[in-house]
Amino acid sequence: MAKNTSPDCKQCRREGMKLFLKGERCLTKCSFDKRPVVPGQHGTAKKKFSEYGMQLREKQKVRRTYGLLEKQFRIYYEKATRSKEGTGWALLKMLELRLDNVVYRMGIGSSRSESRQIVNHGHITVNGKKVNIPSYQVKVGDVIQIKENKQNIEMFKELKEAKVNTPKWLEFNPSTLTGKVLALPERDDIDMNIQEHLIVEFYSR
Ligand code: SF4
Repeated sequence: MAKNTSPDCKQCRREGMKLFLKGERCLTKCSFDKRPVVPGQHGTAKKKFSEYGMQLREKQKVRRTYGLLEKQFRIYYEKATRSKEGTGWALLKMLELRLDNVVYRMGIGSSRSESRQIVNHGHITVNGKKVNIPSYQVKVGDVIQIKENKQNIEMFKELKEAKVNTPKWLEFNPSTLTGKVLALPERDDIDMNIQEHLIVEFYSR
């Protein structure tokens, strides 16, 4: 499967903000904190974006945050245009409901890319069945669990003691390593500053 090979920190610098792509490291040794400039020779120069530039940057910021390639992101956008809810919000909701994102929001994995790997490696079950597809769309009532025979591997041991702050539409019980989708996310559950109307304007050009 094709994947984004651009270095994580460079992506943050390109977007001019922390996208939190590297888990723990983003909180302790963030290179953007040390050098918040865009990559390239003229990185320190102040740049004024055109309307198109702002729309492009917003789209790239969200695409990179969820770790998607352009083609995958575009497919979500096309699906969102067919929604009755409004394209921008429908797009964000589909991204939030991806299994890898839900696993990340439950605290299983310190970044979305780590959570995606956990799903890819078959460590997650949904309603008792193994699901190793990161793009799987979860539904209200789905029970998400770390596979029983994987619960004692090193990477999940610490999680049993962890205090996890899940958004209100999810719950996660660290002692059983089991979570549940309680409701659909609402717009204010998305903690990033996203102007989704710019993404819609970008693709509507
Ligand atoms: Fe971005 Fe994290 Fe790298 Fe900081 S450490 S620049 S937040 S990926």
